[in-house]
Amino acid sequence: MTDRMPVLFVGHGNPMNAVQDSVWSRAWSAWGRRLPRPRAVLSVSAHWYLPGTAATTMAQPRTIHDFGGFPRELFEVQYPAPGDPELVRRLQEVLAPVPVRADLSWGLDHGTWSVLRHIFPDADVPVVQLGIDETQAPAFHHDMGQRLAPLRDEGILLLGSGNIVHNLHTYAWGRRPVEPFDWAARFEVLVRDRILRDDTGELVDYASLGRDAELSVPTPEHYLPLLYVLGARGKEDAVSFPAEGMDGGSISMLSVQWG
Ligand code: ZN
Repeated sequence: MTDRMPVLFVGHGNPMNAVQDSVWSRAWSAWGRRLPRPRAVLSVSAHWYLPGTAATTMAQPRTIHDFGGFPRELFEVQYPAPGDPELVRRLQEVLAPVPVRADLSWGLDHGTWSVLRHIFPDADVPVVQLGIDETQAPAFHHDMGQRLAPLRDEGILLLGSGNIVHNLHTYAWGRRPVEPFDWAARFEVLVRDRILRDDTGELVDYASLGRDAELSVPTPEHYLPLLYVLGARGKEDAVSFPAEGMDGGSISMLSVQWG
């Protein structure tokens, strides 16, 4: 019997964190050393945002370099963790009646490998990615997380990878350090407060939170992984923030662990 796994949300930010020494890459490495060893990682990445729900089902998922304009060093990164087709069959059971398409074309995108490269550097823990259905409202994604909760007792480590504040329009590429924008700081404080109070209603209904939320979450895909993790958390889980900070003024690097 495996111990109950924690659930994690990681703010992944700039893909260069995969190869650069930064306060965040160091925090992720330290985080990995504290975590229990899971049977597999189930990663919900902002970068697999598509119609329908799919899960990577290949035995050896490829490393996808899903970005442009970065140094060659980043394109050369490989994260050769095995897949776990058996876990996909289990996902199809726990998420029913939502159909989960067994995908054989995607792989591990940088939302997954840029952080796992630091958390589990040996790439020896199997990884499955679960896609985010872009046609569904936020409550659907929270509900999906609730259905994933039993997997925590089966050695599965749920990892949501996105950013609580993610505005690339205002992001100061290459001009750091930059003070966080007021609206970004306020929205991050609000989210952190609701997490600490275990008050998820507004976090699911974030679109009702006004201008700060609109600027912080201009598109849903980097925020929605948080809702999967919130859904799978338990009332009894302790909360901690293994990494934090605002990159380039408008990318929240806040990471959260429950359990
Ligand atoms: Zn991203």
